[in-house]
Amino acid sequence: MTNLLEVRQATKRFGTFTALEDVSIQVPKGSIFGLLGPNGAGKTTLIRIINQITLPDEGSVYLDNELLNPKHIKDIGYLPEERGLYKSMKVGEQALYLAQLKGLSKTEAKERLKFWFDKFEITHWWNKKIQELSKGMAQKVQFIVTILHRPKLLIFDEPFSGFDPINANVIKDEILQLRDEGATVIFSTHRMESVEELCDHIALINKSKKILEGEVSEIKRTYKSNTFEVGLLTDDHDKIYNNLKEKFTVTPADFKVIDDQLKMKITLDNNASSNDLLRYLSERGQVMRFNEVIPGVNEIFIKTITENE
Ligand code: ADP
Ligand code: MG
Repeated sequence: MTNLLEVRQATKRFGTFTALEDVSIQVPKGSIFGLLGPNGAGKTTLIRIINQITLPDEGSVYLDNELLNPKHIKDIGYLPEERGLYKSMKVGEQALYLAQLKGLSKTEAKERLKFWFDKFEITHWWNKKIQELSKGMAQKVQFIVTILHRPKLLIFDEPFSGFDPINANVIKDEILQLRDEGATVIFSTHRMESVEELCDHIALINKSKKILEGEVSEIKRTYKSNTFEVGLLTDDHDKIYNNLKEKFTVTPADFKVIDDQLKMKITLDNNASSNDLLRYLSERGQVMRFNEVIPGVNEIFIKTITENE
């Protein structure tokens, strides 16, 4: 897979404080890349470097295998963390102005804005002043302005903060659609809720350093432990539980059931297969649940950060 963007060993200092230390990331073309990390980790600093707002003290950035330079600015759509629209300007007037700054003709800009305002059902906002909009409403306008010129790389810094769950979902669906239409997307977040459904690649940043990067499915594969969540309908809870404990690592599981089941988490050796376990269980009762335990991004995030502390 070719990378649209590569950051190579970027370091950024503010005085004696290092905000970003030797961070490299590779963002494959057509991916949705999640830049994850707690508050203050260095995500915005990295994003500002990619947008040529600040220069790194060390390291370099490549877009399409070319050293980042001013002509790349038009290739990137950037929604900053600090959203800034002119408060006293009218919504439509401002959106048109910003779209033209991105190189669209007035006619083209109008046409595209009409499409997006209709899509988001906000056409009646056109003549309102920005100061009349709520934070979430203004953010919607800014989202439209960010993507309007169809840049090949979209960078959203904490795109969901300020949105209620319904509008966060609208934005999430739009991000997926933009990816399907060929854009590459980087977004940062300190909250993990939106990550699972959205990202195919992630990088974890903690205390200015990158501590994990890769394809989400690959990372999950590395972190899973051959553990299965089992619900077994049987009359003989204690006996079966104790027998299983002799063969496998067994701990109680906690999930809701309708009838009285033996609920367990069972971890297999690496050479044992799930079929062996399933066979063993089905000889001893009615298997009601048999799920592989796959770690969530949130768990991986917390585990990796704790291990690196
Ligand atoms: P994140 O976006 O992950 O929350 P930031 O990149 O905004 O983190 O900040 C990383 C660290 O760098 C923080 O400790 C922040 O205070 C510091 N920092 C960011 N920008 C500046 C600046 N212009 N001057 C001094 N310190 C800064
Ligand atoms: Mg930030």
